[in-house]
Amino acid sequence: MSSTVVTGIGELVTCDGSGPDRLGILPDAALVMEDELIVWIGPAAKSPATDTMIDVGGCAVIPGFVDSHSHLVFAGDRAGEFAARMTGKPYDGGGIGVTVAATRAATDDDLTRLLVARTAELRALGTTTVEIKSGYGLTVADEVRALQLARQFTTETTFLGAHVVPAEYAADRSAYVDLVTGPMLEAAASYARWIDVFCEPHSPHAFDADEAGQILKAGAAMGLGQRVHGNQLGPGPGVRLAVELGAASVDHCTYLADADVDALVDAADSTVATLLPGVEFCTRSPYPDGARLLASGVTVALATDCNPGTCYSSSMPWVISLAVREMGMTPAQALFAATTGSAKALRRSDIGRLVVGNRADLTVLDAPSYLHLAYRPGVPIARPLDLMATVETPGE
Ligand SMILES: [Zn+2]
Repeated sequence: MSSTVVTGIGELVTCDGSGPDRLGILPDAALVMEDELIVWIGPAAKSPATDTMIDVGGCAVIPGFVDSHSHLVFAGDRAGEFAARMTGKPYDGGGIGVTVAATRAATDDDLTRLLVARTAELRALGTTTVEIKSGYGLTVADEVRALQLARQFTTETTFLGAHVVPAEYAADRSAYVDLVTGPMLEAAASYARWIDVFCEPHSPHAFDADEAGQILKAGAAMGLGQRVHGNQLGPGPGVRLAVELGAASVDHCTYLADADVDALVDAADSTVATLLPGVEFCTRSPYPDGARLLASGVTVALATDCNPGTCYSSSMPWVISLAVREMGMTPAQALFAATTGSAKALRRSDIGRLVVGNRADLTVLDAPSYLHLAYRPGVPIARPLDLMATVETPGE
């Protein structure tokens, strides 16, 4: 067991503070880690003796980003669909079928190679925990395969057999719901921590409230935690359903009625509203009202929704800059939502905050303060500590 002290930290953002921004910023701090865990945080001048030392040269250090919503297991290319949408073609969820066909046709090796590249990409942008959903297989074997592959990259895997009703079941939706809640769930459950459903009355391919409720309850009965894609394309029942069932997170929350906001306020300790503004950017849609949700007392998370149709980006720093520029969130609120908020959306307290006992998932910013995340959009300033070109020297 060896210990390492991180010194030269311009500002240490622990996300464990009090006061309005809760960032808990410590100047002149050092942090000691041992066995991937944080064992000491305090003034650099008082740091204990360690085996090695890493000097980050005045950079800001923040908790690694937690991307609590992604769809990384897919093959195929939908750049043409994006280009068409930019000339005015609306999005209704139908393009998912294109990815399903390509993903079913891909080999395990193909999909593994793609997952290696995509997880390397998001790590290089400062993300240290990622949730990965299935949902482009939509047969028992293909959904199980997606989860088995995803599990090699994260413990946060989500069964999304209820992404859309596949074309072959279009004439018999209830048969597909029976498959998802029966044999598919049974085969998938041991590879997943979560179950999710695309609950969206505005897409003919997605699931209504009754179907979604049935699917989420079946998942819970198999021991899975619940998550919901809700209120993305228009007002709908997703938020209400998620709160009623005690889901960990309802994601998108773009179109909310007053009653939805009230329900999320009442459920602030259990159900997180996860905002995915990269989707609104890439589909040229109105953004959710992040500032209103925060002012009301809703627990808010930010994530990428990285997927081939509506947002093919795994960049959490970019999501933070969108949240600040387009959703009225302060830079502090956006960083908190992308770390502690997203950890809460995964019901994790060991990540998303830098405190003794938590995982030492540190992201270093090539900047003196966290404000640069929103201030320098599109510039790769964030990097996990272990990917930094640091010089490790023997400690004192
Ligand atoms: Zn999604």
